[in-house]
Amino acid sequence: MIKATNIHKYYNDLHVLKGVNLEIASGEIVSIVGPSGAGKTTLLQILGTLDHPSKASGQIAIKNTITNALSDKDLAKFRNENIGFIFQFHQLLPEFTALENICIPAFIKGIPKPDAEAKAKELLDYLGLSHRYEHKPNELSGGEQQRVAVARALINEPSVIFADEPSGNLDTESAEHLHKLFFELRDKFKQTFIIVTHNEELADMADRKLEMVDGLIVGAKTS
Ligand code: ADP
Repeated sequence: MIKATNIHKYYNDLHVLKGVNLEIASGEIVSIVGPSGAGKTTLLQILGTLDHPSKASGQIAIKNTITNALSDKDLAKFRNENIGFIFQFHQLLPEFTALENICIPAFIKGIPKPDAEAKAKELLDYLGLSHRYEHKPNELSGGEQQRVAVARALINEPSVIFADEPSGNLDTESAEHLHKLFFELRDKFKQTFIIVTHNEELADMADRKLEMVDGLIVGAKTS
């Protein structure tokens, strides 16, 4: 599903990723752990096509498409159709309702409004938020906001979801709920998840836990 080869990243003189190689299978849930500054977010952003590797020798393939060879326009389309993102801070647009926030990636894809809304409602119902269609982010709890963000990530039925500290801002109960949800979604929709987390419980639930130190993956534990 994902193959990353020889990924380097420099920020000026700072060598943040030092030749990462990684293969992730379809339907696999992989967690990435490690100390702050190890390069986890940078790696996730590069795997998720939001950032580029520094060296031309580095290559990212997602579903057999070499994403770092795509033009910006083709890459935006590829990302919109194949990849979902969940961040620590939900990044919902404050002036839009839950339903509208979820529909935005579908509108970008060109899905007609009635179809996008029907799908968004289906997702909100599945996530236990059928009473929150018309609520704006500031009218929702942290856990609810994060579930709306999950629905937004899912609306175009991406095959890969990248999550960066998805439960970092949640109370214990909401975090556990969200973690269970990832596994349910994988079972239901066969999605692949790559999750950067400091949450030990979530990291250990993953099929494979990768440890990053100083710009390299130094260990892997399969559960
Ligand atoms: P982690 O997610 O493991 O905490 P990051 O990938 O966020 O690590 O950061 C790795 C290193 O790269 C850190 O030293 C950080 O300060 C640096 N870094 C991250 N993003 C940038 C940037 N845009 N410009 C300069 N340095 C950055």
